[in-house]
Amino acid sequence: MKLYEYVGPEHLRELAHYECSKCAVRSPEDLLAWSSDTLQRWERGHSLTVTFVIDREGCLWVSDRHSEHVACAAGEPVLSAGEMTFYKDKQSVEVEMVSNQSTGYCPEPSSWPAVSSALERAGFEAPVGFSYSFTFRRCPECDSINLVKEEQFVCAVCRGTLPQEWNVSTRYPQDS
Ligand SMILES: [Zn+2]
Repeated sequence: MKLYEYVGPEHLRELAHYECSKCAVRSPEDLLAWSSDTLQRWERGHSLTVTFVIDREGCLWVSDRHSEHVACAAGEPVLSAGEMTFYKDKQSVEVEMVSNQSTGYCPEPSSWPAVSSALERAGFEAPVGFSYSFTFRRCPECDSINLVKEEQFVCAVCRGTLPQEWNVSTRYPQDS
């Protein structure tokens, strides 16, 4: 499976060295213990959205939804990253929503199998795919990272054409 290196802003990379309240989730009980230890607030008592990454070993890590993916991943490359919402009731906790929304790693929608197998390893039933998937490209003209909307492969900054293939890890030299 493909490993995604951190591609976000350099000043955020330093967050990798700070403690963030992250947790390797190996069972639903791990998630519940972490959410209670870190005082996560379940909306209406049922719903909790977190930042997640899948590490190179295929393990699911979660952290507070306001934390950066690079901190959740301790600066390491990941197999996927995004946001995940859990739903709990008295009996169980389930995965309700998963997206690949991570501007720090910009993983492809095709990273889903890594998420699916990590969830299953952790004892969750995985959804059939990302609930929301995002397509990221780097502009070869101005080096900006773009979120492609409605299949329009056009840079929002300079109107340059974005490639069809994922290229976010490529750095394009800029004239200045
Ligand atoms: Zn551009």
